[in-house]
Amino acid sequence: MPAASQKRQPPEIHKFGGASLADVAAFRHAIDIVCKRTGPRVVVCSAPSGVTDVLLGMAKRARSGQENGLQSDSVALRRRYQTILQAIVPTKTARRATSEAIDRSFDELDALVGSLLVLKELTPRTSDFIAARGERLSALLFAAGLEAAGEKSRYVDAVDVVITDGPYGGASPNLMLTDMSARKQLRPLLDRGILPVVPGFLGAVPAADDDDPGVVRPAATLGRGGTDLTATLMGRALGAREVMLWKDVPGMLTADPRVVPNARVIPQLHVREAAELAYFGAKVLHPRALIPVSGRNIPVFVRPFADPSAVGTEISGRQTLDRYPVKALSAMPGQALLTVAGSGMLGVPGIAARTFAALFDEGISVSLISQSSSEQSICFSVPEGAAKRAQKRLAEEFREELVREDIDSVDIKTGLATLAVVGIGMAGHPGIAARVFRALADAGVNIVAIAQGSSELNISFVVAASATAAAQRAIHDAFQLAKIGGGAATGGDHVDVVLLGFGQIGRTLAEMIAKGNGKGPGARKGTKAVRIVGVIDRTGFLFDPDGLSARDVNGLISLKEGGRGFADAPSGRVARPADAIATLAKHALSQPVLVDVTAADTTELIKQALAAGMDVVLANKRPLSGSRDSHAELNALAAKSGQRILFEATVGAGLPILDTYKKLAESGDKVLRIEGCVSGTLGFLMTEIGKGRPFSEALRRAMEKGFTEPDPRDDLSGADVGRKALILGRLLGFEGDPDEVQVESLVPEAYRKLPLTEFLSRLEELDKDWAARLSAAKSKGGALRYVATVTKNRIAVGLRTVDGASPFAGLKGTDNQIAFTTNRYKENPLVVTGPGAGLAVTAAGVLNDILGLTS
Ligand code: ADP
Ligand code: ASP
Ligand code: MG
Repeated sequence: MPAASQKRQPPEIHKFGGASLADVAAFRHAIDIVCKRTGPRVVVCSAPSGVTDVLLGMAKRARSGQENGLQSDSVALRRRYQTILQAIVPTKTARRATSEAIDRSFDELDALVGSLLVLKELTPRTSDFIAARGERLSALLFAAGLEAAGEKSRYVDAVDVVITDGPYGGASPNLMLTDMSARKQLRPLLDRGILPVVPGFLGAVPAADDDDPGVVRPAATLGRGGTDLTATLMGRALGAREVMLWKDVPGMLTADPRVVPNARVIPQLHVREAAELAYFGAKVLHPRALIPVSGRNIPVFVRPFADPSAVGTEISGRQTLDRYPVKALSAMPGQALLTVAGSGMLGVPGIAARTFAALFDEGISVSLISQSSSEQSICFSVPEGAAKRAQKRLAEEFREELVREDIDSVDIKTGLATLAVVGIGMAGHPGIAARVFRALADAGVNIVAIAQGSSELNISFVVAASATAAAQRAIHDAFQLAKIGGGAATGGDHVDVVLLGFGQIGRTLAEMIAKGNGKGPGARKGTKAVRIVGVIDRTGFLFDPDGLSARDVNGLISLKEGGRGFADAPSGRVARPADAIATLAKHALSQPVLVDVTAADTTELIKQALAAGMDVVLANKRPLSGSRDSHAELNALAAKSGQRILFEATVGAGLPILDTYKKLAESGDKVLRIEGCVSGTLGFLMTEIGKGRPFSEALRRAMEKGFTEPDPRDDLSGADVGRKALILGRLLGFEGDPDEVQVESLVPEAYRKLPLTEFLSRLEELDKDWAARLSAAKSKGGALRYVATVTKNRIAVGLRTVDGASPFAGLKGTDNQIAFTTNRYKENPLVVTGPGAGLAVTAAGVLNDILGLTS
């Protein structure tokens, strides 16, 4: 043995499916993927997508004498291969041999098709011989392309490495013989740093006794999609480090994405789960692809060809995702159900055994069996195409029983599909079947037959073919499969916003998001697009999985301005906010965020959203300024499920107040005290009064400009500033309840309960007091400001006379200002100043938080 083989590095197997070799660009990308790896590698190639179908279609048409189109199909295929070759092997001499191989193969095809037209007979052997060129030429091209890209590589034909037990058309690999020949052929190449390229989908037929030694045995195909199987066979034989199946899907999904649009990538599956899915019709893997690696420590990855940096789905011996007893669904359409029934079957041994032995003899595979416990019937599903044959055969088998009327009949029911619900965690979870059936009942789907395997790895059942889509969607929703792996459809390229509230801020935000909405090519790679998928108000909600467009948003704004609610929108639904969130949470949202732009007490809704796996962004102060217990509960809920609550816009609108705090804390500084003017309304009022304007006039101006709440006493009471102060205090560790915040109201006791109109008509009565306050402040060279003072132990907000030289005195209009006194900024506090109110800046602050969630 050479020294090299003793520390032989296990190779990687890279399999490229048809979509990954569809054209020049795909071939280039595939070659690039292989070249970027290092160490020993084996490449397994499918035929470019559609090639196998065209070849088999040509064979069938020729056999039935349809000459039309045969020539043009052949020419098109030949040209397709030559075009790819020319692009990936630029030098003419380097590509000559491969180019000639393509021509020979299509000359041969033309001759074969010609003889089929005459013979009008097509054997499985000939059909396989015709189809085999699809993958063979593909692998030849790939090897030439690798060489051109500077990698040493060699084409190795499938019959030299994969040995089968036959038959043509759907051969089963012989694992032992395949292990031996693959090792013998491939290891010497790998040891010399050469990359073998093997055509998939094919294997040698078994050797006949009278074969000349050295004779090349013909190829049999392994069944449609068989290249997956070739890849895992190579992985097994060579003890590969990993087998990578590059496909045009982001990974193994929770369901077929063509049937269940919100299907999600499953980050990891146990081999047995994946095998079960493949066997029960998940089109993404060949049904037997995982047999070669089961029980071996060879992980298989289903990876997205379009995004090589994404890992896709790992299929291995690990068991993860315990929260999901059910991980995926699959469906086998085109099934028929046979029932052998009769009262005379009771207690008669051997009926079941004879039934299945007879079917086995006929080569009919049974995918689901259920026997009633009364033993008066056995029921099983077979492919529709085999149903008549099965029935005939069973009628013969049970001729005597039928005559004696021990068996009444062998019935067929067609137009069915078998669905499988798969998950290794089902074994430990009682009630899964009940949940499946409740979901189906709610969706109005009738179950024709049920079976649960003894492994409890799957529950399968038969439904009418017409109900398969509805059934899969219902079960997918019932088990919240759209949330698996963080609910990311394709590595989470979107942030899906659910907007709670559609007041001024909500509308501004919606317009901003809709304008920048990354639908289509606008969304740059690496940045995540934000879209609004749901909007909720008091009347109902609206759901649009593609995200609202600018036009949609405008429509909703006019709706609202017309005094109507979302329940009245064309696609709106009537619901209470809690029900709306529950419904939206069930959908397959990608990185869902609930954005609260209301001013109501939404604490319970926020909790609900966190529990449903949503992050939360708040412009609404109330949920964060509730009781100490309720605040703690929110944080605990978020921490438990790893969700985040961001709330920059609650204090100082778009100003980076919380951001500054966070940066100080992260840098190891300690914030001792926060002081600030955090009310735009009161700020405006104070600067106006400072200019000598009477209080009544200043307040009326503020109202005209829309700076106040409808009842300005809501601002004057200081409650809003108190809430902001409490939010800041809690950052510093303040542990009190809201009533421990000392709030000075600017509305004298006697005026607090007056009707609004009366209060407004009596504003002038207050001017005198304010004038006195102002002159007192001025006499000290100071200015009047409404200030929040926050430390860990005490929070107070109220009217202060600030030093004329202090930054607060210089504040203008609605601007906010926050000063942080910290260990480092003790003498000169760190001051943040800027517009602290206004729709655009507040909405921008919210949007900033949303974007912050993506990093
Ligand atoms: P390859 O190119 O490797 O041959 P396939 O085309 O055979 O790949 O498999 C990928 C296809 O399988 C996808 O187009 C997808 O529509 C389908 N599919 C069905 N069920 C699933 C599933 N559960 N997960 C991923 N893809 C699925
Ligand atoms: N080309 C074959 C097919 O389409 C095999 C494969 O792609 O895996 O079935
Ligand atoms: Mg396939």
